[in-house]
Amino acid sequence: MKRFLFQSSIEQDLEEFSIKTSSFLAIALMLSVLTTIAWASEEKSEITGEQSLQMLMEGNARYASGNASHPDQSAERRSELIAGQHPFAIIVGCSDSRIPPELIFDQGLGDIFVIRTAGQVLDDVAIASIEYGVDHLSVPLVVVLGHDSCGAVTAVVKGGEVEGHLGSLVNFIEPAVEQAREMGNESELLDNSIDNNVYNIVDELKASQPILSEKVEKGELLIVGARYHLESGDVEVFE
Ligand SMILES: [Zn+2]
Repeated sequence: MKRFLFQSSIEQDLEEFSIKTSSFLAIALMLSVLTTIAWASEEKSEITGEQSLQMLMEGNARYASGNASHPDQSAERRSELIAGQHPFAIIVGCSDSRIPPELIFDQGLGDIFVIRTAGQVLDDVAIASIEYGVDHLSVPLVVVLGHDSCGAVTAVVKGGEVEGHLGSLVNFIEPAVEQAREMGNESELLDNSIDNNVYNIVDELKASQPILSEKVEKGELLIVGARYHLESGDVEVFE
């Protein structure tokens, strides 16, 4: 009986040792995974915001001149991207069907990270999407892209009653229209409102705490405004 107890105690010790060892290994593995994840999210982009903007503008020049090369749309590219995405730019654009960012910047699968809403206005969820692209995918550039004849901005300039959730959209764009009215040039009210709306969104993103403002301060993120011209197909980047 005593022997049995002794034996069982050794077995228990061995079992405990094995549990401790495997727990230790599990914790070590977990720590190493967490360190890798933390390191990955801190990882700096391989290109600068300026280089990223240059790549977009080269793509836009190809598209606007009718020489789009439609890159990165093959089955091979699709396969390459199964392991993960590394887009080089974030486009915050309007939902308008005439301005699909992949087409107007002549890009393909996995190249650009896109957020689109009417009038490219941003609520918390849209800003969170931008933060994800900047912080987790290390994207060095955000382009806020307005465009000629934007229906959302035009609706606010015209004023009047709106239905459903459109009221929220009006509230976002209203300050840009007010600023344009203060500028006093009635014939350019819509154009100025469109540009002011872009500038306001750029300012909002640059000041957005804590992620975006911090990245901008560190020089790791470039946020620029731009406008797409419906007729020429050109994207004009604001100073
Ligand atoms: Zn629009």
